[in-house]
Amino acid sequence: MKVEFYGVRGSTPTPGRNTVLFGGNTSCVYIWLDSGHDVILDAGTGIIALGERLVRKTSDINILLTHNHWDHIQGFPYFKPVFQAKRNITIVPGAIEYADKDAILTQMSGSKHPVKYEHLPADIRLETNIEVMKTFKIPGFTVQTQKLNHPDGGSAYCLTAEGKKIAYVTDNELNPPNKATTTWQQWLDFIADADMLIHDAQYIDADLPLKLGWGHSTFLEVAKLANEANVKNLYIISHDPARTDKELLREEAKLQAKYGDIFNVYCAREGTVVDLAKPMKAIK
Ligand SMILES: [Zn+2]
Repeated sequence: MKVEFYGVRGSTPTPGRNTVLFGGNTSCVYIWLDSGHDVILDAGTGIIALGERLVRKTSDINILLTHNHWDHIQGFPYFKPVFQAKRNITIVPGAIEYADKDAILTQMSGSKHPVKYEHLPADIRLETNIEVMKTFKIPGFTVQTQKLNHPDGGSAYCLTAEGKKIAYVTDNELNPPNKATTTWQQWLDFIADADMLIHDAQYIDADLPLKLGWGHSTFLEVAKLANEANVKNLYIISHDPARTDKELLREEAKLQAKYGDIFNVYCAREGTVVDLAKPMKAIK
């Protein structure tokens, strides 16, 4: 099982000289198996480069969305496979608290986009049953869901395949000021013993209490959770748009100093490929 980070930034794309190392595209992670099966997590601007890769194939495409905040869907209109005739694309929207489960499509409507979603040549199917889908299968993977602690709701995903377990949890506030939708203990159960946890840590401690309730976690909270859950590899994503490469390296070094002997911990870099058969090092 291999994992590639196509977009690791939260909130808004951040091109510029201070984000070259970690990357500026918004959320998108691609997972593929030796069997050829694959899955896309989120459709932020990172999915645009992934589209250049997938447009050369004809295989069915499965996209799991955590939620519909713009940084998780804004790359979709520029994802080349949507312009391929009859290309099968299935989208699972997160368990959001609003009725517009189809926002990834309707962002291509009205005055917002020149190409309207009804005119896309691909065969696009939206799974509307997400509320009752606690566990489901997509080709090659068993998927479990857990509700995010995040404004407007959403879903985290745990994927198992080829004897490996990956948890994708973003955007998520581990210690929200009000009642948690999913408690710390429930997160521990959900991600227990994961080979890889990909979790949002948009904040440092100094960002709180101003940003309490905004739906993100701190580096220290996430590392503590990973440690308690016996996670083997932690990759932090949803980097704050204002966080520079230098600052991310500093936060990463602090976590590695504290936890590096127990598990691998990194701030995810766009373009990194992780081979979970060789969990100790990135292959690119
Ligand atoms: Zn969000």
